[in-house]
Amino acid sequence: MYAMNPALDELRGALDRIDGQIVDGLAERERVIDQISSLKLTEGRLRDTAREEELLTRLVDLGRQAGLDAQYVTRLFREILDHSVRRQQERLVDDRNPSRYKNALRVFYQGTEGAYSHLAACRHFGPRQAEVEYCGCNTFEEMLDAVGEGRADYAVLPIENTTAGSINEAYDLLARKSVALVGEEILEVDHCLLALEDLPLSRIRRIYSHPKALDQCTEFLRGLSHCQVESYADTAMAARKVRDDQDLSQAAIASEQAARLYGLTVIRRGIANNKENFTRFVVVAREPVQVDPRIACKTSVVLATRHEEGALLKCLSVLHAHQLNLTKLESRPRPQTPWEYIFYIDFEGSLVEPRVQDALLRLAAHTSFLKVLGSYPARTTGGARPAEPRPAAGPMTASPFPAQDAVPTEPETLPTTHADVLKELERKPYKLVARTTRMQDSQFRIGRALVGGDRPVIIAGPCSVESREQILACARIVKELGGHVLRGGCFKPRTSPYAFQGLGYEALDLLEEAGKTFELPIVTEVMHPADLQAVARKADVIQLGARNMQNFSLLKECGRIDRPIMLKRGMMASIDEWLAAAEYILAHGNHQVILCERGIRTFETATRNTLDLSAVPVVKELTHLPIIVDPSHACGVWRWVPEMTKAALAAGAHGVMVEIHPDPSKALSDGPQALDFEVFRRLMQQIAR
Ligand code: PEP
Ligand code: MN
Repeated sequence: MYAMNPALDELRGALDRIDGQIVDGLAERERVIDQISSLKLTEGRLRDTAREEELLTRLVDLGRQAGLDAQYVTRLFREILDHSVRRQQERLVDDRNPSRYKNALRVFYQGTEGAYSHLAACRHFGPRQAEVEYCGCNTFEEMLDAVGEGRADYAVLPIENTTAGSINEAYDLLARKSVALVGEEILEVDHCLLALEDLPLSRIRRIYSHPKALDQCTEFLRGLSHCQVESYADTAMAARKVRDDQDLSQAAIASEQAARLYGLTVIRRGIANNKENFTRFVVVAREPVQVDPRIACKTSVVLATRHEEGALLKCLSVLHAHQLNLTKLESRPRPQTPWEYIFYIDFEGSLVEPRVQDALLRLAAHTSFLKVLGSYPARTTGGARPAEPRPAAGPMTASPFPAQDAVPTEPETLPTTHADVLKELERKPYKLVARTTRMQDSQFRIGRALVGGDRPVIIAGPCSVESREQILACARIVKELGGHVLRGGCFKPRTSPYAFQGLGYEALDLLEEAGKTFELPIVTEVMHPADLQAVARKADVIQLGARNMQNFSLLKECGRIDRPIMLKRGMMASIDEWLAAAEYILAHGNHQVILCERGIRTFETATRNTLDLSAVPVVKELTHLPIIVDPSHACGVWRWVPEMTKAALAAGAHGVMVEIHPDPSKALSDGPQALDFEVFRRLMQQIAR
């Protein structure tokens, strides 16, 4: 209905005015950034994460007072800050390389408009102060030749994907062509199914996409056995075909942007097998650039080792001796020389640094071929990550639960383990988990948090995922208060078969969505080996519940996946039995086990279980694995949970897991022990102190 409605027209006019003001504000901001860039040409640090954090915190507060959602404000301003940082970096690079600066640039990519390479190019060159003309090419080689011959200023070349791995052709071309690397770009690839209209999947008969994209969506496609799947030269071309044919039974797998570009509708989002799917692109130019040392850089080299024993090890040792952190090592067959290899190495550091120059000189002593591809601002390392606003747990000056972006550090002193403990360990039914095998504490990264380090990791969420609203509300409060991981049961081990059994995979999808929305990693329990792989694709941590601590088939399966396992202590298990259960997981290959003390059964009935806090120091003596504490299932009553949470941290636990619920009286499981949000907030404020 488009009937004239003066009130609506007026409101639309108001929106237009506000949008205009936003654009004016952004333009004004950009002018100020450019002025700041001029100052930074001579002085100061380029990227100040602490300042960014402060800024975000202030904006989130301001937003909250004005009734705006914290996550919304964070998302918008992160994009704005990222743009500013990029713009400043580009200014600095231009300043050092005056010949680079141009009013108009020609950037080549492989594929057609709307393809992922095109999106990566736009993302990379968007902040540049220049007119950019983007040109699609048929092949990688054609585009690199265009750069080599000066017909293009830059080419954007996909080099690796976090699901599908290295793109061999790109590596082989970089060794052969005389070009340089001057940048990198990371693009999150979110495959969507696009069709002419919002149709049910059963109506689709044919699906087109690039073979790589099809490879990344095999599980989704398996569920569509009634469809014919066809390869296309690129994802955008597949989308264009669907538009051109105007056939309702056709669909394409491509990006959301491609849908917008070709007027299609997204009928399914996030259909890739892996929830985290990123492609890394390198930016290729004819000449290398010099990068200001204040910008965190990566350097790429291609080398062939001499035919000498231990040659590769010697090369890597040179980098290690110069404290150059390796971020990528790839080998490819050496053309015309069977059984010899070319190695591609990326490390953190820039050619303007003396230690890098020295390392390259020494590398040359062990190589028969060494080509330096260039140094460029890094987009994948810790320093390139976006800042986070500080949690709103209370009036505090510094974040009590920092994002813990730091790389795991080697502790300066090893934990003091008594000689007699080591002796005792020799008689235990476990080896790999024992301190005798590894003295140092094991540390695992879960999202941005590091488990097993000096800072406690806070895990919170409902006992069971009950609804979208419920889990989103929990995720929001966990994020807002600075928690690190979201928990939520999907498959529930219930004493009675008539009790709520969990929503299974439907819950998992909701938990995944909540985790994604609030940028929180998720942990959930698996009860059956058959579910493990499917759950592990979506969950960041797999919980093995108390009742399953000695389910040996499940333990073995957990040993075969590459995901941290949170192993709860069985309610009737001794510490040795618990560690022997952990040993099963390690013995089958997976060394990422987090122990979780959750109370044991004793003669005491006042609490649901007896929280054995003394297990914390004992376990820390016996094993290098991290240990966290779940006071909720031990207490069984919410009123005692805050005190026991603090006690657990005081006892030295590496983290805690607590159950929360927006309305505990309505919880479908474990309501009596769940903290409501106010109590949770107070608890978080207390542990922050
Ligand atoms: C849970 O964490 O929801 C749970 C069922 O815990 P436990 O296995 O410790 O009883
Ligand atoms: Mn529970």
